[in-house]
This record gives sequence, structure tokens and C-alpha cells, in this order.
Amino acid sequence: MRWTPDPRARGALLAACFALAFFGPELFSQSTVRTLFMTVVMGLVALGLNLMMGYAGQLALGHVFFYGAAAYLAGILAVDGTTNLFALLLAGVAVALLAALLTGIPALRMSRWALVITSFFLVELMPSLVDLWPEKTGGLAGLVGIPRLSLGGALDTADLYRVAVVLLFLWLLFQRALVYSAYGRIFAVLRQDEVQLQSLGVSPYRLKLTAYLISAVPAALAGVLVATLDGLVTYEAFGFDTVILVLAAVILGGQRTLYGPLLGALILVYAQQETLSLQNYTMLGYGAFLVLAAILLPRGVIGTIAERLPRWRTPYLIAAARADRDAVALGPEQPAGLTVERASKRFGGNQALAEVALAARPGEITALIGPNGSGKTTMLNAISGFVRLDTGDVRLGSHQLAGSSAAKVARCGVGRTFQTPSVPGGLTVREAVSVSAFADRGTGLVSTILRLPKWRAEERTIAARAAEVLDELGLGDVAHEPAVDLPLGRKRLLEIARAVLTRPALLLLDEPASGLSPDETERLGLLLRRLAAEGTTVLLVEHNMDLVLGNADTVFVLASGRMIASGPPETVSRDPQVLAVYLGESVPDDQVVA
Ligand code: ADP
Ligand code: MG
Repeated sequence: MRWTPDPRARGALLAACFALAFFGPELFSQSTVRTLFMTVVMGLVALGLNLMMGYAGQLALGHVFFYGAAAYLAGILAVDGTTNLFALLLAGVAVALLAALLTGIPALRMSRWALVITSFFLVELMPSLVDLWPEKTGGLAGLVGIPRLSLGGALDTADLYRVAVVLLFLWLLFQRALVYSAYGRIFAVLRQDEVQLQSLGVSPYRLKLTAYLISAVPAALAGVLVATLDGLVTYEAFGFDTVILVLAAVILGGQRTLYGPLLGALILVYAQQETLSLQNYTMLGYGAFLVLAAILLPRGVIGTIAERLPRWRTPYLIAAARADRDAVALGPEQPAGLTVERASKRFGGNQALAEVALAARPGEITALIGPNGSGKTTMLNAISGFVRLDTGDVRLGSHQLAGSSAAKVARCGVGRTFQTPSVPGGLTVREAVSVSAFADRGTGLVSTILRLPKWRAEERTIAARAAEVLDELGLGDVAHEPAVDLPLGRKRLLEIARAVLTRPALLLLDEPASGLSPDETERLGLLLRRLAAEGTTVLLVEHNMDLVLGNADTVFVLASGRMIASGPPETVSRDPQVLAVYLGESVPDDQVVA
């Protein structure tokens, strides 16, 4: 039998842990308090790494550099006479953000590995940087004689420890609010599928940079704390040993779990202090333990425990107890027609589109059909900004879309689905549908973190809208199931629900009915007609002729990149050229134009 804990039990457990940690100096020996202090310090760095590596899915090793930079800056400022806690925390965070910006802006624009390499070199660079200003940093010998932090009066070790515990607690609250919000949901998309992310109007680069900047903050807090602990800072504390320790803490404790990195840090800091005075054999055992743990607990300690406690999971989307439909506007966009003129695209020697023209009106379903390889997907990609046309013009209402990035096109009110559906892991169906509201949301980072009423109202609106769309597509019964567990056909429906959630002005669908049952196809047709009736411009690429002939107002036919026919379905389906193209292809029976 599975034990399902009361959420209040979890709250009480956390409060008890916090109290135990906070009153450490009264309860434990000095050496235990030191272990706890270093756990908090390493835990903060690991929490930052987990945000970037675990949640945002971007491997980076630079957090130890941010930690070191903040420690050195705090040490230098303190030696110069600035010992105020808040001033030093601010300075530490500022230098970490600066370092994250300077390395993140170029690296995140490049490949996935650029950030790993850049941040690797940052850590490598630390001793040389320190040695550049030996009169300030103490050079390779270390910066000594750092005075104690002050807050009113000078803080003793026990005070400093309490400050550390409070900072950790505040950061945990912050990170919890961040990951269990629209940010946590959109990070799931970022981890899995950047193309999908762009189609939701979000720039992967900006989202990664945001995550990187936020993740630098706890590392900086840790640096300021550690600088004044012993009154000593040496570059050796910020080398690859520390990188490995922090990385191991995240993996051992559990990536993408809130408290995992902290537990990992506790185990490793404790083990490190126990093995420090011993022989190399112990280090071997320590290494072997880590390898074993990574193999046996791929989801980390906390991840493995959480897996066994079904209700332990915190939702990424707050439940729609009461729907505030009017609290926050989520579309519909102004109706706008699509016009494509003289669109041409060549891939190497292959002319995928040749001078194609197409128009789709608001309030109508426009179908684009044609044999495989005729250029339909290329057309949708050109409209949605994933393919840059060689020549031609794409307009939505008065917006010129050609030349804009995919994320920008999406923000102009273009929603789309892909021929191969992809749904993010770790989210329920309803959460996975709600991700499309990210680019449109009216609440910023601050309202999200502080969980202001505006944020609550918006979460409720999104949840209510998602529930509504899911019901309409017949997915209401699986709204709280993991999205990745859905069969292919229902994944496709999920993508459609996600695309229509924000009521795009233009909806592009790439073979939405393939893999759907006749029943599901009929529901889809009803949904599309309702959307069109509300003013949406629908462009449907489809092989299922029942869906096309039964619902489309206008049909365009592509063959080998050329538009060979267009008009009402009755006319197009009798067009001899169209029939020739389809019969020549010998497509399966259900796809033949009747
Ligand atoms: P459809 O969706 O109608 O089946 P596509 O638009 O996917 O057709 O493909 C049209 C033609 O363009 C095909 O010959 C395909 O091989 C080619 N093509 C599509 N995308 C690319 C690409 N990224 N690189 C090279 N060729 C491509
Ligand atoms: Mg295609």
C-alpha cells in the first residue's frame, strides 16, 4: 500500500527541519554546525545549478565561478571597510549577474555545448583572474583578514550561520514559487523541444538567459556567506573539486526536485569532512559510492522517494477551484486574414515551393491538400517563421510575417501544431496544454514569485480555459494524467488543445487527424468549425478527405510545390488535374478525393 501524506504533514516536516537547522548552534556541536553551514553554502550553489541544469535542462558549470566571484568581491569590499550584510549580498549578486550576462549572452546564442565549455573555462580561469590583482585579492596565497559581516553589530559565527539558514529558506520559497508556476511549465517545454517552444511565442535564448541569471543568484549568496566564515578566501575553494561536489549533490539528491540538491549537499559535505583526513582509498570509496548512487537512483534520493508518494507531487498549475474567466483576458485576437503571395523555397536542388499564392479568411476553414512531399509542411513552416522563404510575402491582417522569427510570428497570433506531436515530460495533460499561455500572460516574474492575486487569477483563468478546451476535445477524463502517457492520437489532440488555448487569430494544423479515431476526428471538425465561427482563420493541412470535404470552405491543392487548384471543395474534388495527381500517387482508399 502506498502512503499518501497530508500536505500539512509536509509543511510541518519542513517547518521542523527549518527550526532544527536554525537553532543548530544551541543544539549541536561546533563541528556539526560547521557541517550544516557548509551544507547551506553548497546547497545554495547546487540549488542554482539545479534550476539551470535540472529545470531549464541546460548544462552549465559556471555556478562555482559565480560563487567564487561573489566571495572574492565580498572579501575585498569587507577588507576595504564595507561589512554591511545587505551591501555585500547586493554586491555579490551584482557581480554574479554580470558574469552570467557576459558569458551567457554569447554562449546561449550558440550551440548547447557552448555554455558548458564557456563555464568550464570560467572555472579554469579563476586562479589567473585572482592573480591579476594580487594586491587586492591576495593572489594565489589567498585573501586573509576579512572582517566579520555586520548587521547592526558584528555577526559572530552562530549569527552568520542563522543568516545563512534564513537566506536558504527564503531562496527555497522563491525557487518553489518559480518552478511551480508558468515558469516551471515552460521550462518543461524548453528541456524537451525548442521548436515547440518557439511555436508558443517564446524565444529559447531569452528563456535560457533568464534561467541562467536567476540561477546565478543563490550561488552569489553562498559566496558572500563563505567569504566571511573564516575570514579567508582562496581560489582553491572554487575549483573543479567544488564543481564536482555541486554537480554530484544535484544528481544524488535529485534533479528537478526542490529539496534534492540540499539533501545531496548535506550527504556530500558530511562525507567530505569525514574523509578529508583519511587515505586516498577512502576517496576511491567515495567515488565508487557516487557512481553506484547515480546508477541505482537515476532520479536521485528525493526523486525516488517522490515517485513512491503519488500525492507528494506539487502541481505546476494551480487547480481551477473557481474560474475567474474575466479576471485576465486571454485572447481572442482580432480576426485577421492570411495572405501568401509568390512564395518560393528551394532546398538544395529541390524546389519545395514555387511561386505559391494562398489566402485564408477569418471565419472560414481553409484546407491545403496535396500528395506527400508536395510542400504543405514547408508552407506551414514558412508562414510560422520556421522556414525563411527565398522570395515571397506572408501577411496576417496588416502584419508582415515573412522574415520574423518563429517566436515573434507566434506572438502575432499564430498558433500551430506539428505533424509529429511532442509533449513535455513531467507535466499533466492540463498543465501541458496551459504552456501556450506563457507568452501571453500578463503577470511578470515578481507577481509570480510573490503569488499576488493577479497571478492567482491568471492561473485560474488558464486552468479553466485548459479544462474547457480539453473537455471539448474529449480529453477531460485524462486532464490530470501525465501527458507523456497518452497514446499518439490523444497526444495530437493535446497539441491542438494547446494551440487553440490562447485563441490565435490564425491556426495552422499539420495533419491533425492522422492517428485519430473517427469519433475523435468528428470532434475535431466540430471544434474547428466553432473556432472559425468565432473569427479564427483556420488553415488545415490534411489527408483525411472526410474532414476536409466535410468542413473546409475553400481547398487549395499543392503538387510538387505548385498550386494546381483552389476553390470550394465540390469543385476541387472534381478537378481532373487534382484527380490525376491523387490517382497517380496511388494513395490509400480513405485518402482519395471522392
Ligand atoms: P509535405 O508536407 O507536403 O509532405 P514537405 O513540405 O514536408 O511536404 O516537403 C516538400 C519537399 O521539400 C520534399 O521534397 C522534402 O523532401 C523537401 N524538404 C522539406 N523540408 C526540407 C528541409 N528542411 N531540407 C531539405 N529538404 C526539405
Ligand atoms: Mg508534411
